[in-house]
Amino acid sequence: MDSNFFHTLRKLLEKLPGIGPRQANRFLWAMLDFSEDEQKDLARAIAELPKHLRRCAVCSRAFNVRVQAVAANSDEKHCSFCFEYSKREKNKIMVIEKDNDILNIERSGAYGGLYHVLGGMIDPLDENPIVRERIKKLYERVGKNHPNYEVILALSPTKTGEFTSNYITKVLEPLAPKITRLARGLSTGVELEYADEMTIRHALDNRR
Ligand SMILES: [Zn+2]
Repeated sequence: MDSNFFHTLRKLLEKLPGIGPRQANRFLWAMLDFSEDEQKDLARAIAELPKHLRRCAVCSRAFNVRVQAVAANSDEKHCSFCFEYSKREKNKIMVIEKDNDILNIERSGAYGGLYHVLGGMIDPLDENPIVRERIKKLYERVGKNHPNYEVILALSPTKTGEFTSNYITKVLEPLAPKITRLARGLSTGVELEYADEMTIRHALDNRR
């Protein structure tokens, strides 16, 4: 790894959202100034992350394994929403881009169904294997269980959001679920993550 050491490390950091080459360099310099203990703690914490935080086998939502096991009397594969005995509305699936969107929608109290986390958007110029895999999972999910699913596309009204919504609509077409989209209460370009409660409630109530 020696000659490629910096290259590898930088490329890993650049996988983080919003991090380009310049920010990756800043991270490297900052971590260089960590104490030796802090450097070891960081390395250990990253290595142990999968023990604590996991992605749901059904909806790909990240959940804290221990907190959830106690709170929901759940297993270690499913998030508290997808867990068999959860009281969520099981015929509604809201497709969202990232985990933070769920926090915001849950805070609004306007939705009681299930989710599907894409982990990104479909970008025609940039092949994202994770997103494509998750869309495949969505297809299987809708195809397998309820014939009368409503799939709510709640992606940000940006160019890539629109592109991704259209793509998913096309993929799901043969299964003929009811597909709705959030109303344009969200002004163009505003991300769901930053929308306030009233806006979310309005966008949900007026979905079509
Ligand atoms: Zn789940």
